[in-house]
Amino acid sequence: MGYALAEAARDRGWEVDLVSGPVALPPPAGIRLHRVVSAEEMFRATERLFAESDILIMCAAVADYRPVRTSREKVKKGNEPWVIEMEPTVDIARTLGAAKGKRRLVGFAAETENLEAYAEKKLMAKHMDWIVANRVGGSRCAMEGDENEILMISEAGDKRRFGPAVKSEVARFILDTLQKGRA
Ligand code: C5P
Repeated sequence: MGYALAEAARDRGWEVDLVSGPVALPPPAGIRLHRVVSAEEMFRATERLFAESDILIMCAAVADYRPVRTSREKVKKGNEPWVIEMEPTVDIARTLGAAKGKRRLVGFAAETENLEAYAEKKLMAKHMDWIVANRVGGSRCAMEGDENEILMISEAGDKRRFGPAVKSEVARFILDTLQKGRA
């Protein structure tokens, strides 16, 4: 969905920086691509680029936790159960949203249940102008497939539904909504 949004924004003349985790998609033409792996790297790149941008669309499904300890060497097998201690990663949208000033922040909510209620909670908690809610899991999963079905909710309480449709069309709908209805 992030790549579709970046291409749709480029096609309407926006200057686009795409901060991307590891994906199996080719780099889109005419877009500055910044490759990252960890949530920390994504935060650093996004924070730097947001400082000189008008809008940040946070579409990445960022890992919420990371292991407390990592090993350079291969971990040897044992007979006991193995527990990996995890700690929260930085919440990029929430951190940047709290300091966004006049810049706009659009987030996504990927949920398996209570889509609308959870999305509204995230919209407020992360200081977003709009949130795009989509379902994950089950037969209509927003991830990996070519199609998506969305519900957009604005900070002012406006709601717009779209899809199911191919992601390029969904991306155009999202950008149209952002350009028309300034939250
Ligand atoms: O994964 P989830 O549905 O909770 O993500 C909600 C929003 O928060 C998304 O826009 C996602 O990109 C963002 N997020 C973030 N930093 C995290 C986790 C999620 O910016 N550590």
